[in-house]
Amino acid sequence: MEQDKGVRFTPPPPQANLASTEKTSGEVAAVGLSRLRPTGCFGEICPSNMAIDDAAQIRIAICGAGISGLALAAFLANLDHESQLSVDLYESSEEVRMSGAGIAVWKRYWDLLRDELGFEHACVDLGFSAPDWTQVKGPVVRKSDTAGAEGHHFCALSHGPTVIPRSAMSSIFAGKLDPSRCGLHLRRRLAHYDETTAPDGRTTTVLRFEDGTKAECDLLVGADGVFSRVRRVLFRDQPDLARHHFSGQLAYRMSCNAEAVQRLRAAKSDHAALRGFTIWSGRGKHVTSNLVGDQIQMSAWDNVSEEVLSAWSDTKVCDVPRESVSHLFRSWEPDLVSLLNHAGDTASRWPIYVAARLPRFVKGGHVALVGDAAHGMTPHQGLGGGQGIEDAFVLASLLTHPDARRGVLPDVLATYDEVRRPASQRVADQSLANGHNFAFLGSSGNGDHPCLTTIRQELVTACDWLMDDDGNCKGEADKARALLETRLRSGHGHGLFDATR
Ligand SMILES: Cc1cc2nc3c(=O)[nH]c(=O)nc-3n(C[C@H](O)[C@H](O)[C@H](O)COP(=O)(O)OP(=O)(O)OC[C@H]3O[C@@H](n4cnc5c(N)ncnc54)[C@H](O)[C@@H]3O)c2cc1C
Repeated sequence: MEQDKGVRFTPPPPQANLASTEKTSGEVAAVGLSRLRPTGCFGEICPSNMAIDDAAQIRIAICGAGISGLALAAFLANLDHESQLSVDLYESSEEVRMSGAGIAVWKRYWDLLRDELGFEHACVDLGFSAPDWTQVKGPVVRKSDTAGAEGHHFCALSHGPTVIPRSAMSSIFAGKLDPSRCGLHLRRRLAHYDETTAPDGRTTTVLRFEDGTKAECDLLVGADGVFSRVRRVLFRDQPDLARHHFSGQLAYRMSCNAEAVQRLRAAKSDHAALRGFTIWSGRGKHVTSNLVGDQIQMSAWDNVSEEVLSAWSDTKVCDVPRESVSHLFRSWEPDLVSLLNHAGDTASRWPIYVAARLPRFVKGGHVALVGDAAHGMTPHQGLGGGQGIEDAFVLASLLTHPDARRGVLPDVLATYDEVRRPASQRVADQSLANGHNFAFLGSSGNGDHPCLTTIRQELVTACDWLMDDDGNCKGEADKARALLETRLRSGHGHGLFDATR
């Protein structure tokens, strides 16, 4: 679910992919990244590229500089007042990705990013205003599989997310990193890791990269996305947990440019797509459309048959002709048919992959998963990125607790697992249920006669908690810190707790 509510673009935010050593004046991303130590260390084991001047300092390696990895590094930089930690960020790509579509951000995450990382001012610096939440409305959901008749809306969600360009989000995170304590290592694709335990009981994790280089750390955080290598190694004896799974859903992303929107308006001034964020629902499929500036951005969602699902193995995003998408919706309501016919010539097709429901996100005190690596989910609530940010904040809050020393890392990770695993897995379930409701495939779908009242109620309930000021990310982190204190007081705090379960 991606939309553009409440964010006004003045000059466009930076779109370029930026390498760690580049400096592009005026772009927050470049400033942030150029401050970081570039990679070095080839061939030999490199002690995390950091001078470990404090024996108690915890060496953290984050694998993956997507939203979750960058957020974790930024929160750690912000919270680690006592310099307990050294952080190295390993990214397989040549650059930290600074391009891509907007990402839906709910108030719960905006509040966290504003309060902890100064997103409000950073957004203004990048040329767009912070969201006015009184003006941000959720989508209108229509029944559109009407065999050519006009559809009708059956649900209007009173609240929804704002949209932040992915480039801006990455830029702001990168700008928060502390170059004296965070190394950024590009072109480092993790291939494997091993754990070695010294006679004094200290476990070191050795990272092995595809280019033959190695590095060491005390804690490896897998932030390497839904196709996670860290997860593969962590669950190497349980292949179904280790691998990614095709959800059976294909997303086709496309847009109408300004000129096409003008033509659409000229043909029908009250066209449903021109009223704002709309979800066009019908049996087995749905489309989301949203006005973004003078364009309309769309995602069409198809649920493939069981037969196709079981044979599917393609993970690549590819371009397909627009006609192959409009054909899927050819007998739906006229406004949707004309909208799709006004889109650009190609759509990009995304097979949606998810992670298995993992029994743990951690191992002992030395490996943790965050973001899509832990809970890659279908994106029907615009929450995958937000959940990665929340993982990052809770984990950073625990790692920077005054009592969090190397010896109690198993307790720190067990607490992270206890708080974040059930919560994020609930969100994954909810997101899937939303997708099913949009496509009348849930328990209320009932074939050709969906119970729209029940679907409406379920959709409303699904997003209520996201606007609830009482249950925010900082509250979750406080709860986690209190749990850690209880755990340490109760005697686990000597590294004896085994989080491998
Ligand atoms: C079509 C679509 C729409 C979406 N819309 C939204 C939305 O509106 N709002 C929202 O919150 N979420 C949305 N999501 C979900 C969101 O994009 C993801 O949840 C989020 O990007 C996950 O971030 P991540 O950092 O965990 O993983 P990723 O973004 O996948 O980042 C992983 C990083 O790790 C690197 N990496 C991978 N393997 C290795 C390796 N072996 N070694 C080193 N580095 C490695 C990758 O290069 C990458 O930089 C959407 C997803 C899709 C598919």
